[in-house]
Amino acid sequence: MNIVMIGVQGAGKGTQSKMLSEKLGIPHISTGDIFRDNIKNQTPLGKEARKYIDRGALVPDAVVINMALSRINQPDAQKGYILDGFPRNGVQLAALEFAKPVDRAILLELDDATAIQRLNSRTICDTCGAIYGANRSPKISGVCDECGSALVERKDDKDATAIQKRLNLYHQEIDILVRYYEWKSVLRRILTNGNVDEIFALCLKAIEQ
Ligand code: AMP
Repeated sequence: MNIVMIGVQGAGKGTQSKMLSEKLGIPHISTGDIFRDNIKNQTPLGKEARKYIDRGALVPDAVVINMALSRINQPDAQKGYILDGFPRNGVQLAALEFAKPVDRAILLELDDATAIQRLNSRTICDTCGAIYGANRSPKISGVCDECGSALVERKDDKDATAIQKRLNLYHQEIDILVRYYEWKSVLRRILTNGNVDEIFALCLKAIEQ
């Protein structure tokens, strides 16, 4: 099954995508994570993407689309994918529908004020990508439960201007995705005011229905 997770930054897309990936045995593909890996390893793609990411802007479509489509063509994604952070606009949506159409789009709904609060308290593991925040604290402060590495703040979560810019962009660009997936009858909306496990149960139900 080909699944797309939609939601404002901080809504829990990364956390729920990882849980769904384990349960369904299909890869979680986060374009943001791929960029962060490339930035960490100082690849040419990372150097190019960094110019946009640090100021909260979107990476150009040509770069993201090539990267996302080549990832979903890998052997491990032949039974399906869970995309997180892609598509983000109409051009990316069209490219994905042409290549590998979406069967289910899950919209995790969260208001902006709560999203900002969550981003301010979010830390991630630089090694395995585990995410910690209001809904999940590490057992030892600053240390990842899963692999023992140090937890860090995302650079783009620290800058209030960049956060606001990402939220504005999200509202501008999400509309076309929601309207298209609604028209295709694959959109399911989930309110994210429960805990991680309650939201996960709702995601599983949304995938079955
Ligand atoms: P995320 O982890 O999804 O919040 O992504 C972090 C940053 O990576 C975004 O703020 C963008 O700069 C960039 N990015 C990730 N996915 C995309 C995309 N589909 N289109 C353009 N830029 C993206």
